[in-house]
Amino acid sequence: MFSAKERMKFANPVLAFGGSVRKNSRTMAHVKLHIPGPVEVSEKTFKALCAPMIGHRGQGFKDLVAKIQPQLQTLLTTKQLVYLSTSSAWGVMEGAIRNLVAKKVLNCMCGAFSDKWLDVSKRCGKNAEALQVEWGSPIRAEQIDAKLATGEFDALTLIHNETSTGTMSPLNEIAALKQKYPDVMFIVDAVSSMTALPLKFDELGIDVLLAGTQKAFALPPGLSVFVCSPAALAKAATIKDRGYYFDFVEFQKNAADHMTPSTPAIPHVYALASKLEDFFAEGLEARYARHRQTNQLTRDWAAKHGFTLFPEKGFESITLTCVNNGAKPGGRTVDVAKLQKLVKEQGFLIDGGYGKIKGTTFRISNMGDETAASMQPLYAALDKAMAQL
Ligand SMILES: *Cc1c(COP(=O)(O)O)cnc(C)c1O
Repeated sequence: MFSAKERMKFANPVLAFGGSVRKNSRTMAHVKLHIPGPVEVSEKTFKALCAPMIGHRGQGFKDLVAKIQPQLQTLLTTKQLVYLSTSSAWGVMEGAIRNLVAKKVLNCMCGAFSDKWLDVSKRCGKNAEALQVEWGSPIRAEQIDAKLATGEFDALTLIHNETSTGTMSPLNEIAALKQKYPDVMFIVDAVSSMTALPLKFDELGIDVLLAGTQKAFALPPGLSVFVCSPAALAKAATIKDRGYYFDFVEFQKNAADHMTPSTPAIPHVYALASKLEDFFAEGLEARYARHRQTNQLTRDWAAKHGFTLFPEKGFESITLTCVNNGAKPGGRTVDVAKLQKLVKEQGFLIDGGYGKIKGTTFRISNMGDETAASMQPLYAALDKAMAQL
């Protein structure tokens, strides 16, 4: 039996796991995450993770999946079954390559995550080619069209919201190309945009849409969701050596029975159910509007301090802001490490830039549960830090 004090600790996972304790505006004392994943996890979600364990082949689990499946389908506007993968996003990203590439894959690259997908394709032994643009630029439909016109490719990978540069590529325009190239598998990573804006899978006509849930879903890391077109499932069935753990055909077969191929992270599925309740209680449109609003507040904060943004104008992400700090001409620059430290001392973690633009950019996330009110203490801390630089 747990003592009252121990139970208190369990109610506060940071205390339970000995995390660093700092008082800020929230009741839970710790450094609040404003990095672009993992993001802040609500106490309601943490509690949902602690539901009693059930068997993954029993009726309890099937009922749980049966409850969330239609919600996931509404979220992604699809009639296809949405799959649950116990892995981070890269599991499904690699899985998509192994399931769908027979001839050659075009990896559309505009930042650290999308660049990495080329490397992953090659490590899977696939024929792969880069469509590389400058970091901070989006991928344009015309560029993809020119490559696909060669007829060399049977698949492409695209990251909708390139988190390392805070840049969003025009997914609708790109997806429209699918009609011109029906035999090319369009594999789209929406890891840091899914749930923050509408992603209508069936209407887009693409073949795979995937996301890890530690970004805009605001769950702890460890679970991914994805959906496949009937064409993708048919193609996967013809591909040899697609393995087992990420075999899309296995996912479909099991999902039809409200199950997963292997033992899933059941606590995460409970937490996802709790999160979906939140999404629909708020309303999806309100959720999307909230992300646009909180993102605008961050852009306003940056402008107020004389910063410019790193992404090309018109293609800025709405779930995070990548601030230009010398990576591109224009705008002011500060000592990012010092800014981070001063903000952390006040209870907030921001990101100091990713890969080759570390220090010459910095990133602030507004994804997940953040509201205009919950973002204010961060801006106040950032203001105070700026005054000390
Ligand atoms: C975070 C992220 C990934 C990688 O996710 P993991 O959870 O580390 O596998 C992939 N793509 C994008 C766009 C991301 O933001």
